[in-house]
Amino acid sequence: MSRAFNFCAGPAALPQAVLERAQQELVDFRGSGLSLMEMSHRSDEVVAMATKAEQDLRDLMSVPDNYKVLFLQGGASTQFAMVPLNLASIHGQADYVNTGQWSIKAIKEAGKYCNVNVVATGEDNRFTSVPAFESWSVSGNADYLHYTPNETIGGVEFDFIPEVETDLVVDLSSTILSRPLDVSRFGLIYAGAQKNIGPAGITVVIVREDLLGKAMPATPTMLDYKVHGDNDSMYNTPPTFAWYLSGLVFEWLKEQGGVAAMAKLNKAKADKLYQYIDGSGFYTNPVAVNNRSWMNVPFTLAEDALDKAFLQEAGQRQLLNLKGHRTVGGMRASLYNAVPMEAVDALIEFMQDFVKRRG
Ligand code: PMP
Repeated sequence: MSRAFNFCAGPAALPQAVLERAQQELVDFRGSGLSLMEMSHRSDEVVAMATKAEQDLRDLMSVPDNYKVLFLQGGASTQFAMVPLNLASIHGQADYVNTGQWSIKAIKEAGKYCNVNVVATGEDNRFTSVPAFESWSVSGNADYLHYTPNETIGGVEFDFIPEVETDLVVDLSSTILSRPLDVSRFGLIYAGAQKNIGPAGITVVIVREDLLGKAMPATPTMLDYKVHGDNDSMYNTPPTFAWYLSGLVFEWLKEQGGVAAMAKLNKAKADKLYQYIDGSGFYTNPVAVNNRSWMNVPFTLAEDALDKAFLQEAGQRQLLNLKGHRTVGGMRASLYNAVPMEAVDALIEFMQDFVKRRG
């Protein structure tokens, strides 16, 4: 079997060892005589699987005891509504930082439920850097401040955690588990699974317990964090298979040395690719150096007309999903945890070869 190198922004590469383990356990889950997918979510097997996955994630991220870890549905996009519905009920006021397309979606959705103050925007420089913290105009009475530590489309990443009076809420979809993070600095963290956690279909929320139980009265039951917290994320039928696969990824991550080991590897992968791009005289990444994402590396070719050939030839070499987001064009290489250094080396080798022949 030859597996391709997958640079997809999401659903993204999964570790091969995880896929093989899932394959082994697919038909007869650990001697039970059933597939995990066929079992009640209240069965001992599924509850044990779910509890272990949560504990492993807690260990990996050193989640403090006064935080709930929830496994929900609806993707990060549902969090765009769930956050204001649950957290903006006191003053009806929320601060948002606009660093690109995912921030914009979060801002638009929050505006349906509360007053949104955009404290800073990177629009003026076409979202190629994070607005300097000194330039932010935070409101005095915001229930929380929301930002996107890593913009998956623009490849723009925060190099600081803001110091503000209110609770920080972050969309960590494309950077969770890529490096150590001090969870206690945040009121709430959310992330869709399909990049660094597992397959699509599950969303992780890590929320400080004192923020629960404050949802606006009209909040749908399924969108109330407290309901899920009180029911160990099993108020209704959870996506058990996605939860299980995420748990296998957590076990794999622990075996690799956890997030500290991932950080070292991820930084090395990103540094190597940016260094090549900058020195190539043919490929360009527009992002300010200190805001360059470790996870998503967008780049353009000297001539757009060569994009098609680049993608086609990359595909022939089993370098897949390098096409940039449909709204921005160009290329994007996503380098999540499950993308090995060999993938980056193969990509750079191909990029060099392409310049020689076509540049
Ligand atoms: N936020 C960020 C930063 C993302 O990258 C994505 C998906 N690419 C989303 C939100 C939306 O996630 P979902 O498709 O899980 O709703």
